[in-house]
Amino acid sequence: MLKIQMKTPLVEIDGDEMTRIIWDKIKKILLNPYIDLKTDYYDLGIENREITKDIVTKQAAEAIKKYGVGVKCATITPNAERVKEYSLSQMWKSPNGTIRSILDGTVFRAPIMIDGIKPIIPCWQQPIIIARHAYGDVYSGVEKYVPEGGKVYLKFPDGSELLVKELSSSGVIQAMHNSDASIKSFARSCFNFALDKKMDIWFSAKDTISKIYDHRFKDIFEEIFSTEFKEAFSELNINYFYTLIDDAIARVIRSKGGFIWACKNYDGDVMSDMLATAFGSLAMMTSVLVSPEGYYEFEAAHGTVTRHYFNYIKGMETSTNSVATIFAWSGSLRKRGQLDNNNTLIDFASKLENATIETISSGYMTKDLVPLFSKDDIKVVSLNTIDFLYKVQENLNKALFVMK
Ligand code: NAP
Ligand code: MG
Repeated sequence: MLKIQMKTPLVEIDGDEMTRIIWDKIKKILLNPYIDLKTDYYDLGIENREITKDIVTKQAAEAIKKYGVGVKCATITPNAERVKEYSLSQMWKSPNGTIRSILDGTVFRAPIMIDGIKPIIPCWQQPIIIARHAYGDVYSGVEKYVPEGGKVYLKFPDGSELLVKELSSSGVIQAMHNSDASIKSFARSCFNFALDKKMDIWFSAKDTISKIYDHRFKDIFEEIFSTEFKEAFSELNINYFYTLIDDAIARVIRSKGGFIWACKNYDGDVMSDMLATAFGSLAMMTSVLVSPEGYYEFEAAHGTVTRHYFNYIKGMETSTNSVATIFAWSGSLRKRGQLDNNNTLIDFASKLENATIETISSGYMTKDLVPLFSKDDIKVVSLNTIDFLYKVQENLNKALFVMK
């Protein structure tokens, strides 16, 4: 069979633990047999981040700026335990945080819905897409433990100061920021995405408590909506509304789904895990970072699945769900195809996604999905990590064979 050719490389960002194992298998079983894969490869495995003093992470982000599209494997964000485990010279920053602060933009996370897997919340009939601001706040904050206590100030460019707190004894201090430019691009990408998907969009923050910081977000969203998007929204009969984060959570749970929920960086981080779990599994959540310049980085929303990896290296059988990682690849190949006018690549991406969905809805799945699945007349077969990929390959071959 002639392999599909690529015109421009895709930025391939490798990662850690179980997802690194899956990454390699997806390429061997579902990509390399069909595509002459052209990638610009960066190894963000924790060992190589240590060797390169984390320069490799910045190089990967710059490469996405050069080529426009990247696909990233999950990576370890080191904590004190990891520093010991891998003998790291320092607690390297979250690679996703570093990449997002270089590319800026918004992360859109959408659940992959499957016939046979019902969301835990029975009234959810359609996906809820989270739009997470991917810049600033606590992710690029500075923090300090102040052992002696004392007065802590913020100092501003005009020379003025603001007392944060007079600590009477030891304590912790944090300062964070965001920029108008980034909040504006966040708002624009949310409204554009809503127009694209023809879906309502909600934005939530905590402006009642954070009267300057969160209020700035609320004001910028309102201003951009009313000056740039109101008419287009009304033509499509879709709505934008702002509500307090507390109220948003209550409404989300009662909703039917079918809307975009724009969240600040931290809210989006934690709420997307909640939504992914409630829609079925963390392993069924796609994630794409869209920068204001139109650069795309695709990834799975879950982490490196450490517990499974420890079993894997002990030689035990694993049943790790690869769906979100497969969709990260298909999403990036489709975008590459769109940018390069490469219809064969676009078509392959859709066939790969359909084969994956078809595999599960016909009863073949990894262990995490088994308790969630129920469909008349379908017998559930629980597969291990690798056998699931071969089952997808079988369905992909059928789809590609029909094409010929
Ligand atoms: P995690 O890797 O997402 O795993 C949490 C648990 O969720 C797993 O133990 C597993 O449950 C279940 N799970 C997640 N993905 C699964 C999959 N594909 N198939 C089956 N089950 C899955 O999160 P974590 O344990 O909090 O973090 C592990 C490492 O990942 C950390 O070092 C963290 O820094 C990193 N991380 C990276 C990213 C990223 O790069 N985007 C995101 C989050 C976390 P059971 O054990 O019950 O089977
Ligand atoms: Mg999270």
